[in-house]
Amino acid sequence: MRYISTRGQAPALSFSAAVLAGLAPDGGLYVPESLPQLPADWQVKYRDLSFADLAAELVALFVDPSDIPHADLRRLALKSFGPHSRFAPGADVTPLHPLARAVPRASNDDPTTNAPHRTPLNIDILELFHGPTLAFKDVALQFLGNLFEYLLARSKSTKTVNVLGATSGDTGSAAIDGLRGKQGVRVCILHPHGKVSPVQEAQMTSVLDENVCNVAVDGTFDDCQALVKQLFSDPAARDEFQLAAVNSINFARILAQITYYVHSYLRLKDQHDQLVYSVPSGNFGDVLAGMYARAMGVPIAKLVIATNANDILHRFLHSGIYSPDPAWTPQGADATHVPAAATPTLSPAMDITVASNFERALLAWAPNGATDVRQWMEDLKNQGGFSVPASVVDQARQVFWSHRVPDHEIVDTIGRYYDACDYILDPHTAVGVRAAEQFGAGLFPRTTVPTGNVHFICLATAHPGKFGDAVHAGLRRSRRAQGVGSEEALDALFVPPVLQALKNVPRRVVRVQDGTAAEVARVLRSEWPMVEVQKAKL
Ligand SMILES: *Cc1c(COP(=O)(O)O)cnc(C)c1O
Repeated sequence: MRYISTRGQAPALSFSAAVLAGLAPDGGLYVPESLPQLPADWQVKYRDLSFADLAAELVALFVDPSDIPHADLRRLALKSFGPHSRFAPGADVTPLHPLARAVPRASNDDPTTNAPHRTPLNIDILELFHGPTLAFKDVALQFLGNLFEYLLARSKSTKTVNVLGATSGDTGSAAIDGLRGKQGVRVCILHPHGKVSPVQEAQMTSVLDENVCNVAVDGTFDDCQALVKQLFSDPAARDEFQLAAVNSINFARILAQITYYVHSYLRLKDQHDQLVYSVPSGNFGDVLAGMYARAMGVPIAKLVIATNANDILHRFLHSGIYSPDPAWTPQGADATHVPAAATPTLSPAMDITVASNFERALLAWAPNGATDVRQWMEDLKNQGGFSVPASVVDQARQVFWSHRVPDHEIVDTIGRYYDACDYILDPHTAVGVRAAEQFGAGLFPRTTVPTGNVHFICLATAHPGKFGDAVHAGLRRSRRAQGVGSEEALDALFVPPVLQALKNVPRRVVRVQDGTAAEVARVLRSEWPMVEVQKAKL
């Protein structure tokens, strides 16, 4: 199994080389040359497997045994997801939580324009937040951390690899947890000082392992990203620090995520004719794993791309135009466009302007393959956007439906589901649930409609305790929480002890004030831990 670049101008690599490379040298993303199919008897063969064993089976389909022996893959999967992993012990790695059936109409639904909800609306929540940092990124990054350690241990190099990344929240803490204490690798994560949520900041900076370094940059997330890019594009820095990346473009992350689609499908398939997955989406990594699962043979009826106000994917499915600027047209394209900034929302992990993994999906649909993708990505960079042929949008609509959810509906949805189901959604998950409602309401002019007994699986991408402010706003709308007076009493409803405990732990972080790559390089060069230890304040 070889891995090729979506832009077609980089040499093909083995799986392990593609994992270590991250981005291809032509700027593209690595994808398998052809997508493996599930074995003919998969529904029987996989039926009773644990999450760890299923992950091992699925990953093995993508990796030649001469590249990584499959027994080693099994050990890595067990270490990442088995009983001694960092997932909550005793439970499923990704448990399903069925919701009660009758959920009242949203307060802002207009009965004259919206078809009535198909009642009952059947939803299972697929909880992906039982990992150490309480967000779905743990599933991929626990596996990737172990895989990195394994690949570095068997390479002959004695140089320490520095995993360098920028984060606006969830990725940083999940990457740090995935790599903490690992041999041969250090992890250095830049975040904008004072601009990540207090919980996320505490999660990152309270990890005291010697191979972990947090850098707080005076600036924005984009400034952090620019610093990381600057170091990666400097050959001397790449060589001195042996830089590596674990961002969501790493194919191993997508691969690990396929597991929970297959796992949940097998749990629910007997009760339902048609399973529709609703996925809160930003960089398109999570829902791409669903697309691959479907293409490999899992009969998923539809994947709903649920976006917040940052709706580039939703607009693409509607118009075939891909641009951060909603007003962009091929006619009005010019070389002087200003890149749009993301709109801050209540679901910040989905606040993106472009969806970095989307070019992998585009490659699957492009009439001229990588040649098209390369041209489209050049147009995106130079013209501010691109428009695809109708055949591409048609193929996309076979697989996906999409919906955009504004902040006020996030708050409303959290309140309604607490009242009706006694279940507290995090704001990202609420976007997915709201999109599922709209799909269930029959609002699908842009798609082939599934027939029969439709059941929704809504991916819960974070624990509500990580996003307390939005959840408080939602609960304040509910009847059930009306008697709850203080903010602390409201917290007690949903903030788990592990997050409460973060309030009083020491943490370690280096502050970078002048915001230059040279200063970040100085941090990388320094002996760790050389950094200030301070008390967290939440
Ligand atoms: C990263 C993230 C998302 C978006 O996932 P993508 O793979 O980028 O589409 C959604 N919700 C939460 C909580 C996240 O951390």
